[in-house]
Amino acid sequence: GIDIRDLSLSFGATQVLKGIDLKIEPGEFFAFLGPSGSGKSTLLRAIAGFGPTPKGTIALDGQDVVGLAPWKRNVGMVFQNYALWPHMSVARNVAYGLDERRVPKRESVARVNAALELVGMRQYADRYPSQLSGGQQQRVALARTIVVEPRVLLLDEPLSNLDANLRVQMRQDLLKLQRRLGITTIFVTHDQEEANTICDRIAVMADGVVQQIGKPDDVYDNPANSFVANFLGTAN
Ligand code: ATP
Ligand code: MG
Repeated sequence: GIDIRDLSLSFGATQVLKGIDLKIEPGEFFAFLGPSGSGKSTLLRAIAGFGPTPKGTIALDGQDVVGLAPWKRNVGMVFQNYALWPHMSVARNVAYGLDERRVPKRESVARVNAALELVGMRQYADRYPSQLSGGQQQRVALARTIVVEPRVLLLDEPLSNLDANLRVQMRQDLLKLQRRLGITTIFVTHDQEEANTICDRIAVMADGVVQQIGKPDDVYDNPANSFVANFLGTAN
């Protein structure tokens, strides 16, 4: 699980995260909702170990990782801009994390194929990122992250470039995968319906503060304040 206590983070003089407290259970599928600029990506990046060092603690399965290098955290993150290596094929991009971990070739090929199959990109294995659409690149980025089976999965709007049909299909696939692997997952989305259908609990963020945490239905039925009520009622 993830246990965040009194987490604050500033870029220079600008404080972007303002005392976040958040406990996410092992295996939970958790979503962040909130307006643009509220600090969702900054919080995910802090959990993964990117950006300025925050104040406070971030415990992953009981281990405080603040100050620990990103690659020592065993956290998988799909970034909002899903950067792939431009000079590597799709298959090589997905295999990258396995190569780093010295996974034997035969096993690596099988896992890459399974991950690409899962996101419907197996037939594109030999293409390069520049030869793919934005949504296809997004699916490759997802495959690349899940193939190493991280202990925590951080997804920053991973389906935002997909068309509506694919998006609905992918979110079901994502949920199945998350349940099968039992990976603690945080999912950032602007799509409230998406969050409600696939997530166990949601947190609504505004201006670097968590406004409310709860099961989607409970948050909708009992918004903690007028911000949450307005945001859930008017966003989308
Ligand atoms: P969106 O929904 O648009 O993706 P977000 O909730 O993910 O928004 P963040 O990207 O976390 O928002 O940004 C939070 C605030 O931090 C914004 O005001 C942003 O301008 C600021 N910020 C983010 N990265 C940096 C940076 N590297 N340097 C300075 N300010 C930054
Ligand atoms: Mg963001």
